[in-house]
Amino acid sequence: MRILITGGAGFIGSHLCDRLLDDGHEVIAMDNLITGHLRNIAHLRDNERFQFIRHDVTHYIEVSEKLDAILHLASLPSPVDYLEMPIKTLKVGALGTHNALGLAKAKGARFLLASTSEVYGDPKIHPQPETYWGNVNPVGPRGVYDESKRFAEAMTMAYHRAHSVPTRIARIFNTFGERMRLDDGRVVPNFICQALLGEPLTVYDQGRRTRAFCYVSDMVEGMVRLLLSDYAEPVNLGNPQEMTILEFAHRVLQVTGSDSEITFVRPKDERTRDDPHVRQPDISLARQVLDWAPQVSLEQGLRRSLSWFQNRLQEEGLLKH
Ligand code: NAD
Ligand code: UDP
Repeated sequence: MRILITGGAGFIGSHLCDRLLDDGHEVIAMDNLITGHLRNIAHLRDNERFQFIRHDVTHYIEVSEKLDAILHLASLPSPVDYLEMPIKTLKVGALGTHNALGLAKAKGARFLLASTSEVYGDPKIHPQPETYWGNVNPVGPRGVYDESKRFAEAMTMAYHRAHSVPTRIARIFNTFGERMRLDDGRVVPNFICQALLGEPLTVYDQGRRTRAFCYVSDMVEGMVRLLLSDYAEPVNLGNPQEMTILEFAHRVLQVTGSDSEITFVRPKDERTRDDPHVRQPDISLARQVLDWAPQVSLEQGLRRSLSWFQNRLQEEGLLKH
């Protein structure tokens, strides 16, 4: 297949490029590099089956070649980024998704939307099954991301129903691994970098909120299986191993062997407003439809990511060799 990946220079997008090239496909990564980076795909430069197009998907997307599939990942998924760039966040979820779907229709390509557990907002049902409609504050600071993805899901289903585009919706829960931006503000890069630098781990709200973290290779496997399936309704992808953020901080200290302290802080901006109190994927549907479940434990995933974070901190001159 020839596959377009929007957001292909980002964290998950670049891992998908690697995987789909390994599977023998042709891959076009499209990205405006707003949060992604060319370093994530630099190793693919000489691959004849790979090309990169720098483009903002909120503008009309032109691809001259035939396309068999589009994976639409372009987005601003870190709370720090979407609080800073609320309008760009809404535009990429709405206009960007519309453009990517229009391209899928024109090319007769199948389409996969990278949606999110944030469509469930601060959930009243726990763990979250796909049948839950969610509890989102549309006018709160997180609303720009959550509503852009909810709109994107609605638009995807509309193209499926009205234009018979073969669409797939992956509801991605917290995913981590190599190539996350050091300063993207999400809890995994924050805690790993703080632990490696011997700085205090910044735990918000006493660390009582819960999350469940999925290693990137498991996520990529789930997304590829979903793309190749014929299931058009949303499917949760994530690791159900739930823990409090305080517990997660201790796991990071354990794996890194760091003697950093844990500090309880209250961020000055609005990043913790409407912060979901709990989050855990119900992955029964993914097990049943995709025969998929995560294989990598949190500890294994953290260990695999560690040397990459170490190298990046050294490259930035923040950590001595
Ligand atoms: P990321 O920030 O590394 O990747 C997003 C990419 O999209 C970046 O490379 C960015 O430059 C690009 N982008 C943003 N706006 C664009 C635009 N207008 N035009 C072209 N490119 C644009 O983040 P990620 O964690 O790899 O997320 C990938 C996808 O997975 C996103 O759609 C995100 O919403 C979804 N997701 C991720 C997680 C997670 O925990 N990592 C959780 C839920 C959903
Ligand atoms: N968090 C934290 N310290 C940090 C960064 C995040 O305690 O330095 C908390 C945050 O308040 C949330 C959880 O960790 O409860 C996960 O946050 P993240 O930004 O990774 O993504 P989210 O799951 O909220 O989209």
